[in-house]
Amino acid sequence: MPKTSPNTNPKTSDRRPTTRIGYGFDSHEFRSGIPLKIGGVALAHDKGLGGHSDGDVLLHAITDALLGAIAAPDIGALFPPSNPKWKGADSVVFLREALKRVRDAGYGIANIDACLILAAPKIGPHSTAIRTRLAELVGLHCDCVGLKAKTPEGLNLENSALAHVVVLLEKTEKHRRRTGSR
Ligand code: MG
Repeated sequence: MPKTSPNTNPKTSDRRPTTRIGYGFDSHEFRSGIPLKIGGVALAHDKGLGGHSDGDVLLHAITDALLGAIAAPDIGALFPPSNPKWKGADSVVFLREALKRVRDAGYGIANIDACLILAAPKIGPHSTAIRTRLAELVGLHCDCVGLKAKTPEGLNLENSALAHVVVLLEKTEKHRRRTGSR
């Protein structure tokens, strides 16, 4: 798999910043006859999200936000839909790879904030379950995982689900000690 790009700009030092922000976006179309999974939680609904993997739009956006924060290749480059290995894959696999790369880069997650946009099902009743599952997956307290859900007013996207995510990373103490950086 491609790794994070080396520093090829001679005018910059190898010093890594103390904090880094990452942003991820994803969208998937609803299709009949498949299960719906959002944020690693199975939700009862008459349609699921289509895609090469399990279509978990929220996990995909979180994965891309984490990868973006450390300037790593994105989810499509690491897990190309052209590879049959990822057909029907549990998106937790993608998230775990991003988490490993964040750790290897010397960072931990400070918090995650996510916004889902979809007409149905209503996310409110499932919000705590999704936040709890996300917190468990990324190793954070629930208070550090924000989740908002909006309906796509005026967007004409009634059959789609969209996710926007931002993450904040902090340099880990272990990494600071190893590199002597502040
Ligand atoms: Mg996706």
